[in-house]
Parts: sequence; structure tokens; C-alpha cells
Amino acid sequence: MGAMSQPTCPNESIVSEAPIQHIKHEGPMVDLMQGDARWQIPVHEHGFIALVDVMPRLVPQGQTADAAIVQAARVSYGAGTKQVSEDRTLVRYLLRHRHTTPFEMVELKFHVAMPMFVARQWIRHRTANVNEYSARYSIVPDRFYRPTVEGVRKQSTVNRQGGDEAIDAGTAEQFLTLLDKAEANYREYLSLTERGVARELARAALPVSVYTEWYWKCDLHNTLRFLSLRMESHAQQEIQDFARAMYRLIQPLAPATCEAFVDYDFDSMHLSRLEIDAIRSGQPLGSQNKREQAEFEAKKTRLGL
Ligand SMILES: Cc1cc2nc3c(=O)[nH]c(=O)nc-3n(C[C@H](O)[C@H](O)[C@H](O)COP(=O)(O)OP(=O)(O)OC[C@H]3O[C@@H](n4cnc5c(N)ncnc54)[C@H](O)[C@@H]3O)c2cc1C
Repeated sequence: MGAMSQPTCPNESIVSEAPIQHIKHEGPMVDLMQGDARWQIPVHEHGFIALVDVMPRLVPQGQTADAAIVQAARVSYGAGTKQVSEDRTLVRYLLRHRHTTPFEMVELKFHVAMPMFVARQWIRHRTANVNEYSARYSIVPDRFYRPTVEGVRKQSTVNRQGGDEAIDAGTAEQFLTLLDKAEANYREYLSLTERGVARELARAALPVSVYTEWYWKCDLHNTLRFLSLRMESHAQQEIQDFARAMYRLIQPLAPATCEAFVDYDFDSMHLSRLEIDAIRSGQPLGSQNKREQAEFEAKKTRLGL
């Protein structure tokens, strides 16, 4: 046999013969994650969120992932390197005016362990790439989410989806006993899988408080969208806890973007045409909808009106 031939490209005839140019960065580059394998924050008793990678990972010394946003935004002008202060102004302009694609140039990859009921809400954010632990392939680990006695919330009367204040200790204890019973299914789950019941069916006996894990990769624009919805007070407390930990992991990577996100999105306020008319005229809101009226009152309180 002759020497091994190089693998060929199927459409070799149209591939350029030009050599690949290796162009070095002008200054020193630094790892945004400081050489670490992961940045992890524990969430609740068994959960965690860990940042495992970011693009760009290597950035010119003194810069952050904000530089990748600015680089993409400036492609149309072909402008050279600008001062960091100008970069911040540009990032703020882009975010304020919803010029979103430059923020998609930054990618974030997380490893998360969360209760199944949190994962169900999280997975609704469809623009991420997700790979989840398989309970068909492997035995589900023995980990369940349990609130503390003080953490058992009472059903809210104003928000049908949520709960805010703590329920009385007696009722809370009773609820935790119910969770004990649901968790006790785990022993039977294990024993029946050992006796041959398929894992994909046996898991049907486990409660939604059981933990799952996944890798979740998403660009920064859509991650901010996730944070905007899930750090907010209407989101369930448990997913808020993960979202807030995620924000803490992202903030040092893209500080100008995170600052602009808080200023122009998360802590900002949207006013409807009816609300603007009511503020201008000093008249009541032109809507009889009780919920809309309550929302307007909350906004006025925030505005000091
Ligand atoms: C407080 C709260 C309560 C909620 N309650 C419920 C509930 O009771 N029931 C329920 O089912 N959901 C509920 N949700 C989920 C919610 O309706 C959204 O599905 C979720 O927040 C994801 O939002 P998104 O679609 O903007 O995000 P993404 O899926 O990340 O989408 C981002 C953007 O991309 C667009 N996009 C993504 N995929 C597609 C596609 N395939 N086709 C067209 N456009 C696409 C979206 O329109 C959106 O503009 C709730 C969410 C919150 C925050």
C-alpha cells in the first residue's frame, strides 16, 4: 500500500488553493474565565448553576465580552478600536434601541441542576440549545426539592399563578409530610427498576420535585430575555433564584451590557397609550379592567405620582 492520501473535500474543485493566513492579535489576550473550568453557584439544597464556557473566551487584555458586541456593531463602519468608554456608550445605545443582533455574538454555556418543575418553565425559552440528563438511559439520582417550613407559600389572592407570604407552620408541616410520602416512592422506583421495569416507565412514579440536569447554551440577547422574564417578581420564586444566580455569573463577563440591561430593560417601565393619556390629563385610566387599573396604580406609585 502506498502513502495515506489526504482526505478530499467532495467539492474540491471549487475550494480555494489559497493558504490559510494565521493572523495574531496585536496585544496580549486574557481568558475571561481566568483559566477556571467552571464558575458555579449553589441554588437551594441540591441545585446549582455553573457557567462552563463563554464565547468570546479570549479577549484583549482590559476588555470583556462587551467587546464582541461592539466589534459586531461596528462592522458596518469598519471603525478601528475605540475607547472602552465609547464602547459602553455604544452598548447602551444598542440595548436602548433594541438593536439586538450584536448581543447574539456572545454565547454562554451553563450546566444546571434544577427541580423538574423549574426545568418545565425554563425549557419554554426556545432559542437555547439544550441537552438533558436521560432518565430512560440512567437511574434518576435521589434528590428532591423541599422548601423549608417558612418557605411554604400561601396561595396569592391577587396573583392566581403565585404565592407570596408564608402559610402557618402547622399547614406547612403537613405539606412537608406529603412531600415525604412522594419522595418515599423513590425506594420503590429503585427496587422496581432493579427487578426489570424499564427506567423510561418507572420514572412516571417520581414527583416533579425530583432534580434533572442539563447543559444550556444560549446567546446573550436571548439570555437577557430569559432573565427579564424569570428574575421578575411574577416568575415563580424557585426559577427566580436560578435566574438571579445566572445574572451574577454573566455580569463580570459583559458588565456594560448587564448595566444597560438593568437600566433600560429590567428596572425600566413600559407605559401604555392609555397610561400616558391619564398621566397627561390627570383623568382616570381609560380602561375599566381592574387588573390594568391596579398595574397603573403601581406604576404611579413607582413614579411618585
Ligand atoms: C410569569 C410567567 C408566567 C407564564 N405562564 C405560562 C402559562 O401559564 N402557560 C404557558 O404555557 N406558558 C407560560 N409562560 C411561558 C411564556 O408564555 C413563554 O413561553 C416563555 O416565557 C418564553 O418566552 P418567549 O417565547 O419570549 O421566549 P423564547 O422561546 O426564547 O422566544 C424568544 C423570541 O423568539 C421567538 N420565537 C422562538 N421560537 C419561535 C418559533 N418557533 N416560532 C416563532 N417565534 C419564535 C418568540 O416569539 C420570542 O419573540 C409564562 C412565563 C412567565 C414569565
